[in-house]
Amino acid sequence: MSVSSHTSLNDGNRIPVIGFGTYAPETYPKSKAEEATELAIKVGYRHIDGAYMYSNEAEVGRAIHKKISDGTIRREDLFLTGKLWCTFHRPNLVQKGLQRSLEALNMKYLDLFLIHVPVEFQVISGKQISWDGALLNSSLPFRNIFQAMEQCKDAGLVKSIGVSNFNRRQLELILKKRGLKYKPVCNQVECHVYLNQEKLLKFCNENDIVLVAYSVLGSSRDVTFGVAVGCPVLLEDPVLNGIAQRIGRTPAQVALRYLLQRGIVVLAKSYTEHRIKENLQVFDFQLGEEDMKSLYALNKNMRYGKMPM
Ligand code: NDP
Repeated sequence: MSVSSHTSLNDGNRIPVIGFGTYAPETYPKSKAEEATELAIKVGYRHIDGAYMYSNEAEVGRAIHKKISDGTIRREDLFLTGKLWCTFHRPNLVQKGLQRSLEALNMKYLDLFLIHVPVEFQVISGKQISWDGALLNSSLPFRNIFQAMEQCKDAGLVKSIGVSNFNRRQLELILKKRGLKYKPVCNQVECHVYLNQEKLLKFCNENDIVLVAYSVLGSSRDVTFGVAVGCPVLLEDPVLNGIAQRIGRTPAQVALRYLLQRGIVVLAKSYTEHRIKENLQVFDFQLGEEDMKSLYALNKNMRYGKMPM
């Protein structure tokens, strides 16, 4: 495995195994996203994870264009992800949502387009419902949202399509959809030493769906994202720190490497220069079997992102 390693997707495309996360809490000025993305590309990230909901696509797009203009990359060298926010969860709004992102980014296409959250803002009896099997029937528009994503791929606006924050049952609803043309290539979910996603990973592997992990470093502990003030700080975990110290690495590098060795694609967000670089230095060492077992044993099925919104 090296910094330029990719994982194959079920539609024939490939995704770089490490990606740069662009989300930051509202308290960060948006200009930081531009500076950090530019730096990330400069130091070697070729996979950028963005979303309409992060409200920084214009800044991320500007950073990418700067690095294209100065000859660091060509557009085709970069793997760019965008996500459909749930305010566009109507089949006729899907392409409009995508176009908003493409316009903000000033891009002709995305490499990967995900349904950001499995939420359907269909109002039934005055209540907002989620995409849950029991509530679904074929008259609800959700089944057509993925179809509208397929049309975005057919129109050449995105190279691959997938989902995010889906559980097994919600993935099955897509996989069993009548007339499904393209399987989701990935499921981007929270995953780290405290949430190892063992069962979901197995299901994804069995169905040729790549698991992409976010909040691998314990998230930015953003309260608007639902992170409780008192929850444990992942990078301060004593076992993680013990391993890192023994092998001469940082806890962040060990946390990233642990997931890479489980065949998971990882995202890492930092707006700090030395940490942007540090998080990419995860390809010149390997964790032994015992260390992998110790890290695996840290699982608590604990989520940082409660997504109260
Ligand atoms: P991460 O788990 O990547 O952690 C980010 C935090 O860790 C920041 O506070 C950062 O601080 C700090 N940090 C980064 N590197 C280091 C290091 N080497 N040592 C110590 N601290 C470090 O957080 P995210 O939750 O943001 O996840 C990453 C990305 O995943 C997001 O940016 C986004 O692209 C995606 N994501 C997707 C979601 C979805 O619903 N699909 C939900 C959440 C995230 P600093 O910046 O100051 O360096």
